[in-house]
Amino acid sequence: MSVDLTNSWSEDAMTRTDAPTNWARNTVFRARRVRRPASLDELRQIVASSDRVRALGTGHSFNRVADTTGDLVRLDALPGEVTVGPGRRHAVVAAGLRHAEVATRLHAQGLALANLASLPHISVAGACATGTHGSGSALQGLAGSVAALDLLTPDGGTLRLTRDDPAGRFDGAVVALGALGIVTAVVLDVEPAFEIAQWLQTGVPLDAIAADTAAVFGSAYSVSAFTDWRSGTATVWQKRRTDREGGDRPALLAAGAEHADRPLHPIPGMPPTYCTEQLGTPGPWHERLPHFRPEFTPSSGDELQSELLLPFEAAAEAVAAVRGLGERMAGALQISEIRTVAADDLWLSPAYGRDSIALHFTWTSDVQAVLPLIAAVEERLLPLGARPHWGKLTCADPADLAARFPRAADFAALAGELDPKGVFRNDLTEALFPAAA
Ligand SMILES: Cc1cc2nc3c(=O)[nH]c(=O)nc-3n(C[C@H](O)[C@H](O)[C@H](O)COP(=O)(O)OP(=O)(O)OC[C@H]3O[C@@H](n4cnc5c(N)ncnc54)[C@H](O)[C@@H]3O)c2cc1C
Repeated sequence: MSVDLTNSWSEDAMTRTDAPTNWARNTVFRARRVRRPASLDELRQIVASSDRVRALGTGHSFNRVADTTGDLVRLDALPGEVTVGPGRRHAVVAAGLRHAEVATRLHAQGLALANLASLPHISVAGACATGTHGSGSALQGLAGSVAALDLLTPDGGTLRLTRDDPAGRFDGAVVALGALGIVTAVVLDVEPAFEIAQWLQTGVPLDAIAADTAAVFGSAYSVSAFTDWRSGTATVWQKRRTDREGGDRPALLAAGAEHADRPLHPIPGMPPTYCTEQLGTPGPWHERLPHFRPEFTPSSGDELQSELLLPFEAAAEAVAAVRGLGERMAGALQISEIRTVAADDLWLSPAYGRDSIALHFTWTSDVQAVLPLIAAVEERLLPLGARPHWGKLTCADPADLAARFPRAADFAALAGELDPKGVFRNDLTEALFPAAA
């Protein structure tokens, strides 16, 4: 089956200006209807009476993972509850809420999530469904914080799955691409609120990062390295937990590096006012862990993205391989970000079973220029064991992609069990995990 994984601009996008699109506007959803139920009962009725239905989060994915030809359901009109459990170790969170809102409400109660993505604009369920991650050598992707979830099944009933699910289905259901049902609530691990001081250093040689990746990414609770590959250097963002790592400025990572003396945006030329506070001023976890502030457009706003997660041990080889494309990518690449993600047990997580190095690419929105470059990057990194991010663009063949996830067959079986008629499937999940004949 041929499937549009790359989502190049379509005729649709030019003509159906009223049709719903994703955030990047490179995908026009094919849904016959977009529904916005105001109650759980209304949502149950929509699901139970639909032959094809799928949840849409905030639409920040760059591909057709959220698409359906049936009913696309947004959860942002449902009651947005955040309820802290009695032991203050978990919180029940309405799945359609954005991280920005969840974080503010947890912080007001003296609590925190372990990590956040670069932007707090995305929905909790959408982030988990695609294996979205921040950075941190000891920090799993955001789905790693999910202790339980409520899944609306095709008949409109609710299935609660917990980490200790006796049937072992939980690990298959957290990063699930929306293919198992509609998640209405998640129980998230929380911890006492903490502060972060964010420090930047410029001019860190990529050679130094490749030579001791563990030291660079172990230099703070959360570390990101931004590079254009051509310059041979990176700007390294170090987010230090003041309760564990103190408030002092970290030592320079290598000869040639310098401490930044003014705030910076990851993309050269973009305003740093869009970014969370830097220069080491300590502040609440949710106002430092994301790079971007919720009240501004994240990143450049006019872009496409791709990302590959590789075994951590492949870091040096992967960096060398991408550096070889530096000149070719100039003009189409706005910036790249290197991050680390700790291993987890979630079947479809790109970090499943292995500590990972993540190489991310923020491209221009010129899809004709960008797609061949994504293919060129993948040609070099897929042989190193790379797994593409489910929410971003890839040129990988669906069968090859699925084969990179050791539990893919188990996931296909779970989808068949929970959704035998394929109500929640779409072209992408069908190509990846074909239903048994
Ligand atoms: C500017 C920008 C920066 C980004 N930064 C990062 C980053 O730092 N790290 C990273 O890993 N990714 C990043 N991403 C990618 C982004 O995190 C993912 O695409 C994520 O899925 C977006 O969440 P969403 O709510 O928009 O999901 P959507 O794109 O709306 O949906 C994604 C998937 O989730 C499913 N889904 C949504 N809600 C539900 C639900 N209630 N129940 C079941 N399934 C559901 C959908 O069906 C779909 O399959 C970035 C994207 C952008 C645009």
